[in-house]
Amino acid sequence: MDVDPGSGMKDVFAPDESTPIEVVGAGPAGLAAAITLARGGRRVVVHEAQREVGHRFRRDLQGLENWSSARDILDQMREAGLSTGFDAMPCTHGVGFDAWDRAYPLKSSRPLCYLVERGPRPGSLDRALLDQALALGVEVRFGSRKQGLSGPGILASGPRMADAIAVGYHFDSPMPDGFRVILDESLAPGGYAYLLTVGGRGTVKSCMFRDFGRQRLYVERTVERFRRLVGLDMLSPRFHGGVGNFFVPATGYHDGHPVVGEQAGFQDAFGGFGMRYAMLSGVMAAESLMDGTDYDASWQGEMKRPMQTAHVNRAIYNHLGNRGYRWLLRGQAWSGDTRAFFGWLYRSARVRRLIVPWMQGRRA
Ligand SMILES: Cc1cc2nc3c(=O)[nH]c(=O)nc-3n(C[C@H](O)[C@H](O)[C@H](O)COP(=O)(O)OP(=O)(O)OC[C@H]3O[C@@H](n4cnc5c(N)ncnc54)[C@H](O)[C@@H]3O)c2cc1C
Repeated sequence: MDVDPGSGMKDVFAPDESTPIEVVGAGPAGLAAAITLARGGRRVVVHEAQREVGHRFRRDLQGLENWSSARDILDQMREAGLSTGFDAMPCTHGVGFDAWDRAYPLKSSRPLCYLVERGPRPGSLDRALLDQALALGVEVRFGSRKQGLSGPGILASGPRMADAIAVGYHFDSPMPDGFRVILDESLAPGGYAYLLTVGGRGTVKSCMFRDFGRQRLYVERTVERFRRLVGLDMLSPRFHGGVGNFFVPATGYHDGHPVVGEQAGFQDAFGGFGMRYAMLSGVMAAESLMDGTDYDASWQGEMKRPMQTAHVNRAIYNHLGNRGYRWLLRGQAWSGDTRAFFGWLYRSARVRRLIVPWMQGRRA
């Protein structure tokens, strides 16, 4: 569906309790919204264009980030009434490499993130949310591509453009569980290369923020580098990739409907960690429909500041280059707690905001 969340009109579709509410998209944002509505006693129909949940991810391993808020994401999900009945590996220890192959420990006392599987398989995040929604009586129509809403509903159809891409392989592997990143422009321009392994499965990707046309080259370089640095061992590799879309909208409404998740631009512009915002925005939009409260006020109060800070961080990161990345890796290592360091990066951007025009001028 081609919609612009910035052109919305508020307060048009306030449903009464007997009106079924439609949700477009069964990603984490749409399912979180559907679960919240169903828990509030509302009739919900979810339209999903694909034949299964998480179709675009297909066994992708992803990090449910746990640093942008002091609250643990799993606790936050439980408090919001969302299922945490999926496999989640807490990550407290990993390793980061700079462009000169030097290793830096990534460690924190509390999980930096939780590694989860995406897609339709049992144990995945998408499957747990789907099962919870179905158990609550939500009707999920697979293969139903919705082009608009005539009654009350929530728009949750995911990214519309590519501001970043993550491309690489899924595979089976005898490697031990773990997460590793490399910050090197020659592998992932403006981003990072990563290798995640859990329970005999793995994902290796280049997450790049520019020069998408040469993605194959970056992926092959990424694979080679991880082979050399940590002995990457891929069995039955399957190519996989996807896009990320991020912007901070003026409003979270479109034509009177709340827009949630990546369709609304709710993404982490710094690293591309969108699941947390997707689920939280889904919950907030559903609550606003039931309570008659202002969805804009909810998401802006909870998410606008960290998202803006991530955009400031992104603007700076775009200019760092390999020496700057090395400084970042050293900085987090010196801090002694990667989660606290990242938390600081996401909390206060006042000084960093002042640096951005200077850095952009320096590049020009
Ligand atoms: C390769 C890759 C790696 C990533 N890694 C991470 C990570 O490590 N951590 C993290 O937090 N985030 C990560 N992300 C981002 C994260 O996956 C997304 O931010 C998140 O899935 C967004 O959720 P959503 O519900 O808004 O959209 P989606 O998950 O995209 O769900 C939208 C759903 O809507 C459906 N749909 C689309 N159009 C229609 C229509 N017209 N009618 C009906 N249904 C429709 C789609 O089929 C889809 O199922 C990654 C993204 C990619 C591509």
